[in-house]
Amino acid sequence: MSFDSLGLSETVLKGIREMGYEDPTPIQLHGIPLILSGKDVIGSAQTGTGKTAAFGLPILTRLEKPSQQPRALILEPTRELASQVETAIQDFSKFSKLRTTVLYGGVKYGRQTDALKVGTDIIVATPGRLLDHLSQKNTTLKHLEYLVLDEADRMLDMGFMPDVKKIIQQCPEKRQTALFSATVPPIIETLIQWAMKDPETVEIGMRRSVADTISHAVYPVAFNQKDDLVVALLRKVEFDSVIIFCRTKIGADKVGRLLKQENHSVAILHSNRTQAERERSLKGFRDGKFEVLVATDIASRGLDIANVSHVVNYDVPQHPEDYVHRIGRTGRAAATGDAFTIMVAEDRQHMEAVERFIDNKIKREKIEGFEYKYTALFDDGKSSGMPRFRGGSVGRGYSFGMSTRGKGGGRRRR
Ligand code: AMP
Repeated sequence: MSFDSLGLSETVLKGIREMGYEDPTPIQLHGIPLILSGKDVIGSAQTGTGKTAAFGLPILTRLEKPSQQPRALILEPTRELASQVETAIQDFSKFSKLRTTVLYGGVKYGRQTDALKVGTDIIVATPGRLLDHLSQKNTTLKHLEYLVLDEADRMLDMGFMPDVKKIIQQCPEKRQTALFSATVPPIIETLIQWAMKDPETVEIGMRRSVADTISHAVYPVAFNQKDDLVVALLRKVEFDSVIIFCRTKIGADKVGRLLKQENHSVAILHSNRTQAERERSLKGFRDGKFEVLVATDIASRGLDIANVSHVVNYDVPQHPEDYVHRIGRTGRAAATGDAFTIMVAEDRQHMEAVERFIDNKIKREKIEGFEYKYTALFDDGKSSGMPRFRGGSVGRGYSFGMSTRGKGGGRRRR
């Protein structure tokens, strides 16, 4: 099945041909005809499946010609995602005259206000900044025809639901709504009932699955050896680019400092950084200037970063679904990738929740030659027949090894 038979306009088809898309991905194949038919759509698919085009292409086809007022609104939970989606929409609409404006916080209003004054057809926005512009009457949603709530569960986690509701209240009742969410907790169900009419659901693959091109491993360690372990891991692994996820912003700063001392080129991404810093980090990492990106979960959803060879969870994620999102940064588009999770005794329950969520037991590994201190985690294998840690030197009686392609090879320099 090709894009040509989906009912998209010639200008849109030209745009995607230029981008090198040949065949639609499953969510595009199922989502595009539904959105073109005017139905409200709930979409759930793994990250990196092409959902931006799944809603972007039919909306651009339906908008067709420019007008002075925004007719499509795409809400995103983070500035980075808003910026990424805006770039994709600009690319898809390269051969049309439709205009797209991105609105997010952390930067001055001037350029955004100017763009709104000139007139725009599509707004891609984070909720808070859009509400600011609406209250300053810089734009209006009165003429809106298409509303996309992207990463709805993430918007919920980040506390944006009241803002999202205020925005929806300013949209005309007669509109088409698409909602994308990896999970559908009850509060999203309520939102769906309130904001959508008779929606169709497009669910691609298992919501909880992780790409099978990724190998996973858990590295149990004593709490006060986490820093040493992450350093040792990076020494052992032959990586091109690695994202290290931390639970807190303070933790991310600390790990970033540690790895800089180890002579890694490191970028840091979390919400306490200024927008300019966040953009510099992301761009530098994408361009290969930084080999390590240390991030909180702000970077784990939907961000399209090519060629991430490894993901390291410095902390076990607190929400099991975040494991899937974090790991989704590697192994995209069928490239292989490795995912390591550092686990301390306090993480046991969270780790088990992750394993239940992905319905898979992840193998426990040790780094050969690392001077492990005792942790009760090393006794966990007892009942399953795994040899017991007896203290003293590494690995005695405990399974260890590296699951990476770069066994002992050290970092690959670009
Ligand atoms: P998304 O899930 O929208 O973030 O897309 C993930 C990545 O897949 C992006 O780099 C897209 O440019 C790319 N992509 C999306 N759809 C296609 C397609 N049909 N063919 C090739 N690449 C695609």
